[in-house]
Amino acid sequence: MNDLFDLDGRVAVVTGGGRGIGRAIAIELANAGAAVVPSARSTDELETVAEEIVAADGDAVPVPADVTDTDAVGDVIDQAVAEFGGIDIVVNNAGINPGGALGRPEAVDAEQFDRVLDVNLTGTYDVTATAADHLLESDGGSVINVASVGGLVGLPRQHPYVASKHGLVGLTKSMALDWSPDVRVNAVAPGYVSTDLTADLEADEGLRQSIIDRTPLERFATPEEIAGPVVFLASDAASYVTGSVLAADGGWTAQ
Ligand code: NAP
Repeated sequence: MNDLFDLDGRVAVVTGGGRGIGRAIAIELANAGAAVVPSARSTDELETVAEEIVAADGDAVPVPADVTDTDAVGDVIDQAVAEFGGIDIVVNNAGINPGGALGRPEAVDAEQFDRVLDVNLTGTYDVTATAADHLLESDGGSVINVASVGGLVGLPRQHPYVASKHGLVGLTKSMALDWSPDVRVNAVAPGYVSTDLTADLEADEGLRQSIIDRTPLERFATPEEIAGPVVFLASDAASYVTGSVLAADGGWTAQ
């Protein structure tokens, strides 16, 4: 077994780690050997993920928090360090997308716009900045921001989401410059993934088929197919990769 992907001895904080893509990321980081602190608002989901990791002989301690609550974010970072002695990996995955419910630009509600930016972009910034001292102390500090194809191209009726994800891509590149050579900062840009976030899209047969028709790999991804690229970026296999955006989109942005 090539140990380039081995995360033994590393400590990872995963926001939005209770379900969907974040759950898969938490489990796959643990499978690669990292101790994991999954965080989100729903305590029951976090506990289930942590139990699953521990049952597979991994290390996990769930810490609930809303990424828009600075004090709660501070607790996540403090508890991760108290439990495991430091932080090497931060995966900023917590995200929301009111999607088509928002409609055309002139119909977007300012409060809803702010909430999407607060969770997806400012929350990421806050978590990362709060963990900064620990990441800089690590020998293998790595930040992975879960962006979206909506961080690379425009999508109709998703203005706040697209703005937040383009912002995340910019934040990724800018932080990578500031923290080189000590901490690598990268992003993953998923295409359409089967999770609660896309359940309504998948339930609409016409919409589901139009997405599949537009996707060269002709299907939605599983959450695990996004976790793989995240494990890669967190690991020494990606030791010369920083400031990059890895599209895990079934070829969506290749056309
Ligand atoms: P999901 O199934 O809805 O899971 C979202 C996770 O984020 C949950 O654990 C949720 O837990 C957490 N979360 C939401 N708001 C939060 C907040 N304010 N503070 C802390 N945690 C919060 O969504 P997903 O599909 O797995 O999406 C995960 C990430 O991938 C998001 O950033 C999303 O934009 C991105 N992405 C998804 C797709 C897709 O097709 N699914 C495509 C591209 C990008 P609580 O509600 O308990 O807090």
